[in-house]
Amino acid sequence: ALEQQEFRIVFQPIVNTITRKLSSAEALLRWQDPERGMVPPAHFITVAEESGLIIPIGNWVLQQACLQARAWYDQGLGAIPIAVNLSARQFQDPSLDASIASALQQAQCPSELLQLEITESMVIHDAEQALQTMQRIVATGVQLSIDDFGTGYSSLSYLKRFPVKKLKIDRSFVNELETDANDRAIVDAILTLAHKLGLRTVAEGVETLGQLTLLQQLGCDECQGYYFSKPVPAPEFLALDRS
Ligand code: C2E
Ligand code: CA
Ligand code: CA
Repeated sequence: ALEQQEFRIVFQPIVNTITRKLSSAEALLRWQDPERGMVPPAHFITVAEESGLIIPIGNWVLQQACLQARAWYDQGLGAIPIAVNLSARQFQDPSLDASIASALQQAQCPSELLQLEITESMVIHDAEQALQTMQRIVATGVQLSIDDFGTGYSSLSYLKRFPVKKLKIDRSFVNELETDANDRAIVDAILTLAHKLGLRTVAEGVETLGQLTLLQQLGCDECQGYYFSKPVPAPEFLALDRS
């Protein structure tokens, strides 16, 4: 797919919960297979991880994200940071720093326009190593977020030490926010903890106005989900209502 240039990136808006203004975008990978059509990442990321192909694929995503962030900037849309998902293998790869630097440099993209999402499970095998990797990344001006928060090994001692800016609350807690008091309690607790640690919060998978209203009441900073938009190709992203 890489050779045949069949990979595509779609972008999903992340908006401010109160103002509903766009704050950033998440880049999500798709495989435009000539026979199967649009293949979602769940169907190929694991294979790419196991084969090691995730490294060149991940580098391609980094490059495309930097080019897009720079293009939007040049089109006068202001700074729309783009968040890229890192895989475990990429995060452990010694050439990660060089790949990030080269993607930014080739696109002439300011480092503040690139954000990287990592999951809790990626850091548990070797927390010290992970901490060093994170510190090197943030030293370049690229921001880090913890993705799918609450589903992995939510270690509070890590959270205290890691140089991350954002916590993304996993979709599984947002799904039944309107009907499940336990989910509400969990989201409430994550938000309180995150804010006391000085982290920005993003709720994933916001699909309804009811969920959005609750997240506003609970004080979540940002929201992402089908209620605002599905992930879309860059030209459609620009056409989204930005009011
Ligand atoms: P993720 O990082 O948690 O990304 C969010 C997923 O939730 C995306 O699925 C997105 O389309 C979906 N989503 C967003 N809003 C809603 C909503 O309101 N309702 C529902 N039901 N789903 C929503 P997608 O694009 O299929 O990606 C799945 C996973 O694949 C991602 O989860 C991420 O872990 C991985 N992935 C995607 N792109 C890349 C990439 O470039 N590199 C790596 N390593 N992994 C990637
Ligand atoms: Ca993500
Ligand atoms: Ca996520």
